[in-house]
Amino acid sequence: MSMRMRVRTTCRICGGSHLVRTLDLGAQPPSNSFLAPADIAAEQAFPLEMHLCTDCGLSQLVHIVYSEDIFDEYLYLSSTSRALCQHYQGLIDGALARFDPPAGALAVDIGCNDGIMLRRYPEGRCRLLGIEPSSAGKCAREAGFEVIDQFFEAGLAERLATSHGRAALITATNVFAHVDDIASFAAGVRTLLADDGVFIIEFPYLVDMVERLYFDTIYHEHLCYLALTPLDHLFAKVGLRAFRVERTEVGASGPALRLFVCRAESARATEDSITAMRADEQAWGITDPARYRDFAARVERIRDRILALIAEVKAKGGRVGAYGAPAKGNTLLNYLKLGPSDIEMVAENNALKVGKVTPGSHIPIVGDDSFLASGIDTALLLTWNYLDFFLGNSDFIKKGGKFIVPLPDVKIVP
Ligand SMILES: [Zn+2]
Repeated sequence: MSMRMRVRTTCRICGGSHLVRTLDLGAQPPSNSFLAPADIAAEQAFPLEMHLCTDCGLSQLVHIVYSEDIFDEYLYLSSTSRALCQHYQGLIDGALARFDPPAGALAVDIGCNDGIMLRRYPEGRCRLLGIEPSSAGKCAREAGFEVIDQFFEAGLAERLATSHGRAALITATNVFAHVDDIASFAAGVRTLLADDGVFIIEFPYLVDMVERLYFDTIYHEHLCYLALTPLDHLFAKVGLRAFRVERTEVGASGPALRLFVCRAESARATEDSITAMRADEQAWGITDPARYRDFAARVERIRDRILALIAEVKAKGGRVGAYGAPAKGNTLLNYLKLGPSDIEMVAENNALKVGKVTPGSHIPIVGDDSFLASGIDTALLLTWNYLDFFLGNSDFIKKGGKFIVPLPDVKIVP
């Protein structure tokens, strides 16, 4: 199937046209588009560039590959991650304790995946509703939850408010950054939220990404790189208000913000955590292109260091592969312009990916056993956020292999 793309010329939050390109990662296929070797000739690539709106401070992609063309191919079932289950249990327990919605109140999870969040509610505590356009929603439905299989937007919210009433709690974790029409999404939340309801979102924090150099989290599926300042603009526009923020670590995938939002006119006081973060972002330079030019320069330097290290291993007669085939690994491989002549193969335990090649870089993906049998001695660790786990548990390391860790600091371990 051929993928379609369109290009935005205005900011998706404030509508302004003062967009500055801050980072250019080259033309890349969507990062989850693993492909069969026979399909390489038909592969498509699209510009992967971060742009800053200097009016509201939103960092965003302007090249939009149609989500209906790229989603749904790889079923990611959240509930298979025990760390994520624990993380969301904390979120729900905390929200029920802090906001104490009436028994039987409606709670909605937008982007409910296989029901991982809905499963965290105590039995019978709330009326639960999931929204999930991807096929993962089938698992939630099979577990007995009501799931709407549509993208969340203002029109759907109107219909749900009529059919189900308004919600005391709405959660959306790792979904907000994927939405192109984020204004319609936010307006829908305003519509569906009860007068004293709370909307809780979690997302990777732009400032962390820039400071810690997590540039591999930039890929076509992630349209926005969020921070409080641009979200303030968005919420003010639709009649919402952020009143509390917490910093959190989402399993192994890294630091995130948990933002609590209410209707603008709600009696909930805006807490100090919000005013402090606003001030911090201004001092940091959230709307200042210079802040991001510095980021781009650091990204280039780390690219050069990773390439130099791979060359050094090879010069000493080493053989280099890669470990793990996560979506973000493809941003790294493609930005570094690595291919099968640099990286012989990728070890991956997701059977759906084994036998395919990585998008753009076309490196063969093999199972862990084949990788071990290959005699490769050094592996670029693409799932570097799980470094501790793989150091402790992988047979590759136990048999004397070494990892090249690309981020946040380039190094060889052990
Ligand atoms: Zn803007």
